[in-house]
Amino acid sequence: MSEFKDIVKMISENEGDKIVASSASKQGETNSPLQTPLKNPENCPQFNNQSNLIDTNQQSLPPFNIELFVEEIWKKSDNKNRLYNRLTQNISGYDIAHNCIANVVFKILQTPVESFASKWLPVLMRGTIGSAIHDFIQNTTDQFTELEPSIKVPSIRFSGRIDALIGHNILAEIKSCTYADYQKIIKNQRPRNEDFYQTMTYKYILENYLNEAKTANVKRRTQPPKLDYYKIDTLQFIYVAHDLLASDVEDFGEMLSRIKHIKKILNSKSNTFFFMTTLTINLTDELSKPYIDFIDEKIKRINWYVNNNKLPTKDDPFVNKKCFFCLYDKVCHIKKDL
Ligand code: SF4
Repeated sequence: MSEFKDIVKMISENEGDKIVASSASKQGETNSPLQTPLKNPENCPQFNNQSNLIDTNQQSLPPFNIELFVEEIWKKSDNKNRLYNRLTQNISGYDIAHNCIANVVFKILQTPVESFASKWLPVLMRGTIGSAIHDFIQNTTDQFTELEPSIKVPSIRFSGRIDALIGHNILAEIKSCTYADYQKIIKNQRPRNEDFYQTMTYKYILENYLNEAKTANVKRRTQPPKLDYYKIDTLQFIYVAHDLLASDVEDFGEMLSRIKHIKKILNSKSNTFFFMTTLTINLTDELSKPYIDFIDEKIKRINWYVNNNKLPTKDDPFVNKKCFFCLYDKVCHIKKDL
């Protein structure tokens, strides 16, 4: 803190032009524009930044504090989820793949809860990393024919966006994951269960509700699907391992041996993108049927509960009791019975 104060003092005791001139003369660069004292230092963006720094520092503000930051994340998470819940009265692909049916019905019925903050706050940072990975891949490649097509189907309250499509038959999803999950995925050559359900939900919508998804009179942030026909026979998962230092790694030693192991499985010592892999799954109608039936039934049941203003009962097959992360655990009648 004392060093910091000294810097503040040093800056405030010198006028902008003197600071600039002295730093130039130390460099001894006769042609440097820095050697000419600035007549109007306030026109120099660099100087303006310093000027702001001086003003702020003079208030003797405290340094960055992690505990305070966690409180800030909590507030941000609460606001973000509250807003999302207020604006969202739809079923998402994530709801079909991950969420307990009671959670989805609570959300669509706008059930109030005390706090909307996520139960596990690092999820917010992970989400940001995940979005950056999506953007990086989507903005770099020309291999996709459609990016982020919006699939909104008001008649069944569905709203989603597909990461990418290639032609009329390949549906691609980009998934960022922990190294622990990544290791399992490349070892077993199987996508995570929920990822599979989510992509199958998009296939189901494209093949059963395309006309409505293209023509519905709704606000969309991205374009609806371009083609008049899709028959998705190939799912492609693009997995990217994003964090080495997640809570599922105990120490650096474990982390390094995990990476070594991953490189070995991939047989790619020199592959600098060893943290990225693809899984391609060819679908037949027979393979797809049980998943499509599950999705169809879950969407129908959610809509039935909402249309009849009823809550699911504990014996509903789509109640999955992942209560720890659920925002509705304090108000949920099923949780109370557990
Ligand atoms: S608290 Fe549990 S049972 Fe209730 S909605 Fe949430 S996950 Fe489902």
